[in-house]
Amino acid sequence: MQLLIMGAPGAGKGTQATKLAEKYKIPHISTGDIFRNLDERTELGQQVRRFMKSGKLIPDELTNQIVEERLQKSDCADGFILDGYPRTTAQAINLDVVLKILRQPLTQVLNIHVEPEELIERAVGRRICKNCGATYHVKFNPTKVADVCDACGGSLYQRADDNADTMKNRLSVYENSTRPLIDYYKQAGIYSEIDGRQPIDKVTADLFNVLDGLK
Ligand code: ADP
Ligand code: ADP
Ligand code: ZN
Repeated sequence: MQLLIMGAPGAGKGTQATKLAEKYKIPHISTGDIFRNLDERTELGQQVRRFMKSGKLIPDELTNQIVEERLQKSDCADGFILDGYPRTTAQAINLDVVLKILRQPLTQVLNIHVEPEELIERAVGRRICKNCGATYHVKFNPTKVADVCDACGGSLYQRADDNADTMKNRLSVYENSTRPLIDYYKQAGIYSEIDGRQPIDKVTADLFNVLDGLK
């Protein structure tokens, strides 16, 4: 199963992709995580951090190249879930070409819909485990002990771009560059929309329902 999870910044893509990856035993490929994990001592790592910190997209050419290499790894042979890629029409066209060569076309595109008003609060309250990458929210999905990861005991951090100012840029980038992909995938006949304003477990249940209905 080749899945793509879409949605505005803070909509819940990462949270849900983790659950889909577990259930369907496919790797979770998040371009945001790949970029955040680049070594900050390198020129490339520095450049990427500058784009991310201001809420701008990393240039298509670099992003496409990174994803193309990742999709060729052997763990993707039985499918994968892409999270946060593609984000531009040029990336979507490139992805189609790559997946055609790999003979692994997208099975379904899952768009988590959340109204813009709610996204800033979600992003500003997001906390991530330094050790295992698990994502929490100070209000909507808190850890049992403050600032300690439930899964591994690691400490939590806040992303440099998860502030109200950068979020405004990220949301306008989403509107201008990424939202048009909804029509792109509707036309391809592989698009589903899920209401992301429900509790996390309910969103997961809706996603499982869509995918179980495909078989
Ligand atoms: P994205 O990957 O789309 O940016 P995340 O999955 O990291 O989004 O979620 C953003 C923040 O919102 C996180 O702090 C997460 O815990 C929280 N969150 C995710 N889904 C929901 C939901 N359905 N309701 C409330 N908060 C949510
Ligand atoms: P969110 O969905 O909450 O915005 P991500 O972790 O997916 O968070 O992305 C964080 C940042 O990483 C983006 O604002 C952008 O700078 C960069 N990024 C991630 N994916 C892409 C992509 N496909 N193309 C260009 N830049 C990307
Ligand atoms: Zn952890």
